[in-house]
Amino acid sequence: MTMMSCCVPSRDSSDRFPCLSDPVRRSTLCLRLALVMLHLIFVGFIFIFNQEFRDNIKEQPLYTSTYLLLVAVTLAQYFFTSGSSPGYVLDAMREFAKTEASLRASEVSKQPASSKNGNVVVTIDRNRSGEHLVGNNPMNWTKMVMDMYPPGTSVRTYTCSYCNVVQPPRAKHCHDCDKCVLQFDHHCVWLGTCIGQGNHCRFWWYILEETALSIWTGILYIKYLQASFDKAWLVDVIMIILLSILSIALIFLLLLLLFHSYLVVTNQTTYELVRRRRIPYMRTIPERVYPFSKGACRNLYNFCFARTSIYAMEPLPGAHELEQMSVPYTCLDVISCRCCC
Ligand SMILES: [Zn+2]
Ligand SMILES: [Zn+2]
Repeated sequence: MTMMSCCVPSRDSSDRFPCLSDPVRRSTLCLRLALVMLHLIFVGFIFIFNQEFRDNIKEQPLYTSTYLLLVAVTLAQYFFTSGSSPGYVLDAMREFAKTEASLRASEVSKQPASSKNGNVVVTIDRNRSGEHLVGNNPMNWTKMVMDMYPPGTSVRTYTCSYCNVVQPPRAKHCHDCDKCVLQFDHHCVWLGTCIGQGNHCRFWWYILEETALSIWTGILYIKYLQASFDKAWLVDVIMIILLSILSIALIFLLLLLLFHSYLVVTNQTTYELVRRRRIPYMRTIPERVYPFSKGACRNLYNFCFARTSIYAMEPLPGAHELEQMSVPYTCLDVISCRCCC
């Protein structure tokens, strides 16, 4: 078997060799263990070889405990994010069906007993197929979703052929999870889950914590090398190799943090930014217009605090709103902070 054939996606579950290019063989457990091991190696070397850092444990216990707390918080945030739901469309449909069923039940209870027999009962089926999740009443999922698109939009355009669900705006089918995800950003291999509406905030905090930890660890490595260069050359070589790997990881993390901060401020997702031309309702919108943006401050507030439910959905703005968004900025707009409010 060649190296290439080893990494060709395969649906044979008997082949358990982990491979990043194959969603079936990609072992989330192995990746999680590898990530924890990487943290232990980088932090462990400081404890083993950095005498100054060890001395600090007694002299400055707050400094050491803060660093160790950052390590623990970063790892906890990693597991917290990887175990979170990105917000699947099927789950949103179940929530919708539950809400609708309870609303109908309350309506029925208010009506006279003689008229109760004619009401439609919303059934919740645990079947994977989306068409079984919502009842056939007029206010069903399809109608609710299609109301978010401009009038005249075909249901077929936004029906996922894999899940058989009508996708709300910003949703996309993930082939790794085999489910449609609300506000799909990307599927993260290292976390073993999709990043979507439900966990994008947690993902941003994880990158921030990982970046801070990498900077602090890098500083400790540099301090060690400055203090003990020429004393133990083998340890120095190992430390330089680890510092080089850490520097590359730090550059990647900083770029990722900046990129996702930009996405948050403009209320975009990676998928919308990269595949804008592939999304039918985004094709006609000018490049510099972010259709879901409510202004930088409002976007930031919504991202951090105002998310009432991971299943909340954003309708597409109307033609008039889009026209207003596409008006070029004037000096007055800049002074009045039009981009922020
Ligand atoms: Zn799907
Ligand atoms: Zn996924």
